[in-house]
Amino acid sequence: MSGHVPRYRIGVDLGGTKIEVLALDATGREAHRRRRPTPQGDYAATLAAIAALVADAEQTLGACASVGVGTPGSISRATGLLRGANSVCLNGQPIRRDLEQMLGRDVRITNDANCFALSEASDGAGAGADVVFGAILGTGVGAGIVVGGRVLEGPNAIAGEWGHNPLPWPRDDERPGRTCFCGRAGCIETFVSGPGLEHDHVSAGGERLTAHEIAARAEQGDAACEATLLRYEERLARALAHVINILDPDVIVLGGGLSNIDRVYARVPRLWGAWVFADRIDTRLVRHMHGDSSGVRGAAWLWPVGSSQ
Ligand SMILES: [Zn+2]
Repeated sequence: MSGHVPRYRIGVDLGGTKIEVLALDATGREAHRRRRPTPQGDYAATLAAIAALVADAEQTLGACASVGVGTPGSISRATGLLRGANSVCLNGQPIRRDLEQMLGRDVRITNDANCFALSEASDGAGAGADVVFGAILGTGVGAGIVVGGRVLEGPNAIAGEWGHNPLPWPRDDERPGRTCFCGRAGCIETFVSGPGLEHDHVSAGGERLTAHEIAARAEQGDAACEATLLRYEERLARALAHVINILDPDVIVLGGGLSNIDRVYARVPRLWGAWVFADRIDTRLVRHMHGDSSGVRGAAWLWPVGSSQ
């Protein structure tokens, strides 16, 4: 493939339950998309499924393509092995090397939060911005950083992963905070994830509701749900002020289930000035544009326009 400039970029979103493949043409338009269930607990079958989806896409397109892959977890720079994936059969495997051998080309791989940030920075809600912080607020909290159209990986492959930093400027009643699966207490994730919001509502004496229900009831004037959302917005403002003080991104894009709470985009920027070390803050807080497709689109964008193999 040397010297060949692919006309299409294929993105692969390797999830715990499904593998999705999408091809973008040179202008970034979707040209092909297919998904299939992830073979459970079987690394070799997972690789074969990805290879088959890529072959199928290239046959449909009638052209070769670059391939980028979004995975849970991250690839260790030191060992080349995947770690921290929730599909545990992938952990400890040299997935990039194996895919490169199967597909006969270089493959770029990064984690799904980085893919989200890259998708939104490339042609989504952060398009045109130099520094984009893309945060996923869902069951967990993850984030990625894109600078000048490229994912910032870092020597430890954890750039942007602030979900397991402690919630900054904690109040006495927020210390030490709940124990997190990572082993520490009071992580940002335990406050601003969906389960974090739901737990906070119950802790304050509210009934057990989903994050979506809490937001909906607050809108209908439920005082307890409104109070929970106010606490949530103030904590999210602190967590993001922390990011602004270090990275000073042009745009912060939110994804994940909690990004659907409309009011945070107006309210959180009104609050974060209390902790950002600047007299004027021009950072934009915006909702994702590509939704559930961000992972697979970002994987495709791991190869820039017209790049050769
Ligand atoms: Zn944690």
